[in-house]
Amino acid sequence: MASTSERQKVIRAACPHDCPDTCAMLVTVENGRAIMVRGDPDHPFTRGGLCVKVNNYEQRVYSPDRVLHPLKRSGPKGSGQFERVTWDAAMQMIRLSWTKIIDQYGPTAILPYSYLGTEGTLNGLNVGDAFFNKLGATISERTFCDSGSCTAYFMTIGPSPGMDPESFKYSKYIILWACNTISTNLHHWPFIAEAKKNGAKLVVIDPLKTRTAQEADWHISIRPGTDAALALGMMNVIIEQDLVDRDYVANYTLGFDELRDRVKAYPPEMVAKITGIPAQDIRTLACEYATTQPSVIRIGVAIERHAGGGQTVRATACLPALVGAWRHVGGGILQLPIWAFPIKWENLMRPDWIKPGTRVLNQWRLGSALTHDEQLDPPIKSLFVYNSNPVVVAPEQEKIVRGLEREDLFTVVSEQFLTDTARYADLVLPATTQLEQFDIMFSWGHLYLSLNQQAIEPLGEAVPNTELFRRLARTMSFDDRQWKRSDEEMALDALDWANPALQGISMDLLREKGWARLNVGTPETYAPHAKGDFLTPSGKCEFNASMAETLFCRCSVRAPTSSRRESGWIRCQPTSLPMNHRRPMHRSRPSTRSMSSHPRATRSSIRVMETCLLNCIMLGNSS
Ligand code: SF4
Repeated sequence: MASTSERQKVIRAACPHDCPDTCAMLVTVENGRAIMVRGDPDHPFTRGGLCVKVNNYEQRVYSPDRVLHPLKRSGPKGSGQFERVTWDAAMQMIRLSWTKIIDQYGPTAILPYSYLGTEGTLNGLNVGDAFFNKLGATISERTFCDSGSCTAYFMTIGPSPGMDPESFKYSKYIILWACNTISTNLHHWPFIAEAKKNGAKLVVIDPLKTRTAQEADWHISIRPGTDAALALGMMNVIIEQDLVDRDYVANYTLGFDELRDRVKAYPPEMVAKITGIPAQDIRTLACEYATTQPSVIRIGVAIERHAGGGQTVRATACLPALVGAWRHVGGGILQLPIWAFPIKWENLMRPDWIKPGTRVLNQWRLGSALTHDEQLDPPIKSLFVYNSNPVVVAPEQEKIVRGLEREDLFTVVSEQFLTDTARYADLVLPATTQLEQFDIMFSWGHLYLSLNQQAIEPLGEAVPNTELFRRLARTMSFDDRQWKRSDEEMALDALDWANPALQGISMDLLREKGWARLNVGTPETYAPHAKGDFLTPSGKCEFNASMAETLFCRCSVRAPTSSRRESGWIRCQPTSLPMNHRRPMHRSRPSTRSMSSHPRATRSSIRVMETCLLNCIMLGNSS
């Protein structure tokens, strides 16, 4: 709590949206009602600013359109006609329906569907995983965002937080690559503006002249989907013109010879044809980037939004090591600093409860799965949606709607509002907003852990997702401790408090201050790979990825061709090693814990990555 008076108090909270900034919020509560939400001016990264989406968050909380009670469908599917029922009646409906489905078809006829409608560690992406793992439901694979790029990034430099976004103020050459910072990561912009004021050159690589590109010293308009070719072309120039940091490459990288041979195929003239960028500009960019230190690359999530996106990230992640940018504070690459947060996702997700052979269905196949275009055995007979609105956010909307209209599909949606998806539900369950729930928040845009304290009592009969799954567990007679913990106990279990990154940080401190910077050094000193220490099996930046050699068909960096026929996808061939085959690993090497600390990683993709690492270790690639 920030302050109190007779009638008013200010509660410290944090924005729940899937946004890199994770803004610290102050909620003013008067007589039990939230009357104002504003940014916390003391937060070093978000500095008191909230964006237009959240400035009036209290209006969302008290909207007359909120769903505040369990609702049972009373008209045709999609009509939006519902009648109020009790929580007990709603849970009984679920129990009866699911028991019947499980008896007739087995538990994989039930499909959960969720994403990041709320991003908190407790109530976010993975809040229902333990329950559905226990139930034996179909695994809903979430690869909409980051799966390819994170796998590629891990294979190159490991699960490194990368460069501190606050250290950008010390950079002299900044490349914002597929990142419209001013519109989508706005609290990072002041650090870039400060660097510019100090003489840094800002380059924006983006097909469009975005708001950020308009502020750049140099906007490079690239043909969409050809970024990997540009990265390879830059490396071609850097190597040809002998701008490589030979000492850094010799000591802290793996596979330079293979990389040199590979990039020979991408001279500037050829890259110009692929990317639409003049060859001379490619040469200038490569030379300036290599020789102006500290140089930094900020890759946006857009960089992976095309076939070959993962390999694009592999190529860009090679660049800082090639020129020795990691040596300096303010040099390197920034992808998702989320890897710095020591979160024990396995304690929340319970992947050990996944039964061998459980069916996995990628979320982008929802429409086909529901309409039987995809022949599934057993068919999906029940859909459970939370933290998402697939009618709006998933592909093949028409098919999804057609599927949701099926009379034999039992659909449950937990929601704050009667969304386009909720309108098709047989049962709608009321969900709380961020002001009505407790959570602990990581960030994928800065290095501060935040505590979201409950500011007001839940409205109506709304419940947080944590409580929703406690109720479902009771309904299905699951008796594990997993669902007997309070939210605060869950938060204590969810973090590795003994990890050096949390040294000096406690729940009491978070309650008092609202947030704390991870104990990873200051922006003035943070240079995580000045002496290598990459979190790969070799401990080096792997131009030639040993993990790819172990598990994947292709191992070297590839660029998409202009014809797009050669996609450069990384093809996964996971083995069937069970997840609980774990053993202690060297501290500086990737651990199963650090790999599983990816909230976007799916259960299956975590299994792939863990298995991949495990194989590296079993093959003796790790000490
Ligand atoms: S900028 Fe992002 S984190 Fe900040 S208030 Fe807006 S949506 Fe939330």
